[in-house]
Amino acid sequence: MAGGPEIERLIQLLAKLPGLGPRSARRAALHLLNRREQVMAPLAAALAAAATAIRPCGICGNLDTGDPCAICADDRRDAGVICVVESVADLWAIERTRSFTGRYHVLGGLLSALDGVRPEDLSIAALVARGRSPDVAEIILAMNATVEGQSTAHYLADRLEGSNARISRLAHGVPIGGELDYIDEGTLTAALSARRQV
Ligand SMILES: [Zn+2]
Repeated sequence: MAGGPEIERLIQLLAKLPGLGPRSARRAALHLLNRREQVMAPLAAALAAAATAIRPCGICGNLDTGDPCAICADDRRDAGVICVVESVADLWAIERTRSFTGRYHVLGGLLSALDGVRPEDLSIAALVARGRSPDVAEIILAMNATVEGQSTAHYLADRLEGSNARISRLAHGVPIGGELDYIDEGTLTAALSARRQV
C-alpha cells in the first residue's frame, strides 16, 4: 500500500465504521488528509472529547455526558412510564418524534440464538429490577418488528410478569421487518400512541 503504515491504519479503522467498506474508507481517509485543518484536526479533537466525556447512563443505558443522563435527570419526564428499546439509535428515533415524555431502558441488543446473544448479555436484569418499582405504571416494549425484536419482546413480557406495571407493545404502523431508526416520525408517533397491552 502506498503512503505508509499510518495511512493503512487510518483506512483500516475507518473501514470498521458502519456503512463504510474499504473503498469508501480510502476515500474518507484522503478527504481527511486533504482537509487537515478544516476537518481532520477538529474531528480528532471531537473523537477524543467524546471518548472521555460520554458514557452510558447507569440507570437507562443512554449515552450522555452526565450519569444519570439528561432524560433520567429530567423531573418533568414521567418516571412511571419506561420505553424499552434495543439501542440508543432507537431511543434517538423516538426522541425525534417529540411524542414520548417518559423514560427509557436501552437493552444493548436483541436476543439471538443465531448470533449467540443470551439474556445475560443484555440489560434485562436491570430492567426487571426497575419494573419491580411500585412507581412504574407502564413498560412499553418498543422492539423492531423483526423476528428477533418480537421474540425479545415476548421474552421480556414473560420476565416482567408479576410486576405491577402494565406491559404494552408498539401497535400499527411499524412495518413487518421494520427498524425503528428508519421509520418516519409520524408513523412512529402513531405506533407509540396506539400501543396495546400484552
Ligand atoms: Zn438515563
